[in-house]
Order: sequence, then C-alpha cells, then structure tokens
Amino acid sequence: MSIRLKIEELREIVPSEVKIAAVSKFHSNDEIMEAYNAGQRIFGESRVQEVVQKQQELPKDIEWHFIGNLQRNKVKQIAPFVSLIHSMDSERLMREIEKQGSANNRAIPCLLQIHIADEDTKSGFSLEECRRFLSEGKWRECSHVKISGLMGMATFTEDEDKVRKEFDQLKLLFDEFKDAYFKKDPDFKEISMGMTGDYQLAIEAGSTIVRIGTLIFGDR
Ligand SMILES: *Cc1c(COP(=O)(O)O)cnc(C)c1O
Repeated sequence: MSIRLKIEELREIVPSEVKIAAVSKFHSNDEIMEAYNAGQRIFGESRVQEVVQKQQELPKDIEWHFIGNLQRNKVKQIAPFVSLIHSMDSERLMREIEKQGSANNRAIPCLLQIHIADEDTKSGFSLEECRRFLSEGKWRECSHVKISGLMGMATFTEDEDKVRKEFDQLKLLFDEFKDAYFKKDPDFKEISMGMTGDYQLAIEAGSTIVRIGTLIFGDR
C-alpha cells in the first residue's frame, strides 16, 4: 500500500484531536514528500544530523519533532527550527535548551520524557525524578524552554494489559503535574505516547500525539 493510503487510513482511525507525528527516521526525502503531498506536516526524527539535513532540503512548513535521545552538544543545531523536543529528560539538557533558545530568540517547546517501561534504558526521568525536578522549580528560570507536556514509551510486549497500565500511569502523572504546576498554562497539554504497535491503546489512555513510523513508511 502506498504511503498516501497508509496516512489516509490512519487518519480515519486516529481521532482528529490527536496529532500524528510521522516518524521518518532512516527514510528518504522522496518518502517524506509522498507523506507531505498527502497532507502530513508533522515529522519525527531521532538523529540530529539527519533532521538538520532534511530540514534544509524539504519544505519549510514541515514541523520537525525531535523524538530521540538528545546530546547536549547537539541542541544548538536543531534549536533554530525544531517544533517540539519530545525527549527532555534532565536538568542539564534543559539548561542547554534554554541557552540555545535564548540565542535564537525563541521559547522551544519541550516534553518531559518519562521512563514508564520495564525495560532498561538510559533515557527518561523516573516518576520520582520528574516530581523532584518540577518541585525544585529551576525550570521556572528557563523562559526559553516551554514545557508542553509529557512523553513516554511503553514496554515492547504483546501483553496489552501491561502496556495499558503504563500509558495510564503516564496520563495520571500528566494530570498530577497539570494540577500542581500548569493549571493556568494552556501550553501544557500534550501527552506523547503510542507507536505503530500500541497507538490504539495509547489513544484510549488519553494520548494527544502518536509517533508512528513503521505503519506509514514500512520497515526501516
Ligand atoms: C522510532 C520511534 C518511533 C516510531 O516507531 P514505530 O514502531 O516505527 O512506529 C516512535 N517513538 C520513538 C521515540 C522512536 O524512536
């Protein structure tokens, strides 16, 4: 099936208020343009060098979302154009985004990445770390970092109950933070969860952005 048809099919399944980030990492400009010509405007990338090159070559109305592990020394390269960083997971990274946002005269929208899965990875705040991060309040000094919600990845498993529980946990954490810190901030509104294998469960749990690669573009 063509990329256009995949996107059209997905749009019928995904509620209109849920955004679709088409994860185009490792895929070519031609493939991205096929999605673009089907109306897709949000693309997700996980490597700095790749997104910088694609941003230069492709239409300027594309919203580039950075979804991968982000090294501090590379923030500078994406700061001028990135629409949303899904993977802010430390105070040190926040400080660098603040610096580069300031240098570019913009507030960069960022999600706090939370480690909800069972799997061992280095990325993401634990729930407790993130609670501490917000209660310490250093983020309030960073006017060029716009904290816009949370992101999480569920465990890669066939066990739907487990995945559902992890997504529910992220939604509960979002509600907790919204209530405690962002009640009057309309920009704190995103819950980025759900990929090709689990996006329907994520939507049921309250996702506002699904990040979908394989289903749209095929295998990487
Ligand atoms: C690659 C990637 C995706 C997309 O995964 P698919 O299973 O291909 O849909 C989503 N989120 C993150 C963080 C990724 O790295």
